[in-house]
Amino acid sequence: MLNDSAVLPWWVLPTLLRRDPTTPKGESLTLPPEQADEFSLWIMSRTRGGGRVAMVLVISILLLFAIRDWVLAPNVALYTTVLRLLAAGLTFGAYKFATSDQPYARRGAYACLYGLILAFGTVVAILPHGYRYSLTALLLIPLGSAMFVPTVAVLMRIQFTTVFIVAVGLTFHPPESSEIITAATTVALVCAVTHVLGSSAIRMRVQQFMFEHKLRDEANRDALTGAYNRRHLWTLGTAELQRARRYERPLSLLLIDIDHFKRINDTYGHDAGDEVIRSLATRITHRVRETDVVCRLGGEEYVVLLPETSLPCAVVVAESLRKIVAESETHVAGNSLRCTISVGVATVRATDPDLETLIKRADVCLYNAKTTRNAVVAVAPGDSRAEAEMTTPEPVAKPEPDPPPATGRRFTRRNIPRA
Ligand code: GH3
Ligand code: MG
Ligand code: MG
Repeated sequence: MLNDSAVLPWWVLPTLLRRDPTTPKGESLTLPPEQADEFSLWIMSRTRGGGRVAMVLVISILLLFAIRDWVLAPNVALYTTVLRLLAAGLTFGAYKFATSDQPYARRGAYACLYGLILAFGTVVAILPHGYRYSLTALLLIPLGSAMFVPTVAVLMRIQFTTVFIVAVGLTFHPPESSEIITAATTVALVCAVTHVLGSSAIRMRVQQFMFEHKLRDEANRDALTGAYNRRHLWTLGTAELQRARRYERPLSLLLIDIDHFKRINDTYGHDAGDEVIRSLATRITHRVRETDVVCRLGGEEYVVLLPETSLPCAVVVAESLRKIVAESETHVAGNSLRCTISVGVATVRATDPDLETLIKRADVCLYNAKTTRNAVVAVAPGDSRAEAEMTTPEPVAKPEPDPPPATGRRFTRRNIPRA
């Protein structure tokens, strides 16, 4: 129930995962920190259906216990029914918070709810006979919660809650020896079951998440070079284009093509050609910024998207790439291959309706670069706007306006403004 956004505490997970038989030795299943938030949302969406079933099941069991009390022990039935109804209410609350869509609201609320459950458990354990009658009811709440959101943090809390309630119960009600055995067995059972089933469920979820993540990433990449593919360029490029136009920021694009590539294929073979294509991708990726998008458009053509880069700056990048490629060699099967590239450069305009328009403009420049080859062209003949762009000074980022003074109004789940 208490799923912090830190779903996988780093200090627990490696221990749990080390014994996973499906993970090859030496390969860790620990999620990189930047994927933790994504995993948190992913696991929420995956466990929503199962969580609902678990919630209904736990509440039904609690109500069945209440009916059993009325039949078998009517003298205490009123008392236990109240406790069981309270436990059912807390279970429902735990489910609601665990599956809430508002992570910011969830965290604080979870902490409160967990405190409430512990307080309820303490009161019940202290009440006359409460511990005996209601242990099962209490344990069902955290056990059900493990189904709502199966995370390491939740498993830890289940075990802690169990030990805590049993310890309080035994402290306040001097136990008979048979009761100590029952209590110890309960604690051991809950801890063992949650550890074995819970940790393997989490391992499975993490594996599934990583697998899906890998598949999604592979679907966006070109198999030969690992650069982004044409499809993903459209997704990222369209978003960049919209951002650049909306905030009036520069965005430039390089269209790169290897010169006389057919000759390389014909002289050294297709495999050597592949190696040249691969090494070009590596050279481009090493030269540009992490925020730039390198994509293999197809064949031996690449697109590099340069956000926050004006046309003159993009030309500097293109020139440096051209030089790097011209001066380097690719070693394939004992041969040192040299090649050159031609680059067409274009920058986004407010009137550009889509990415294709920008690529077309860069393609016209590339076509002109091909007249000499081993060249960079940013201004196609007759394109006066591109000439003007080349002399436009680099725009200075506008400073962020000061945040408005706090008004004291707080957003809650009800009044949060819709986008
Ligand atoms: P230009 O200087 O005018 O660009 O001449 P070019 O020979 O490079 O001409 P072009 O760009 O049209 O050549 C593309 C060639 O790239 C054609 C095709 O044989 C080759 N090619 C396309 N995809 C691959 C690939 O995946 N691997 C290899 N080895 N070659 C490819
Ligand atoms: Mg080509
Ligand atoms: Mg070519």
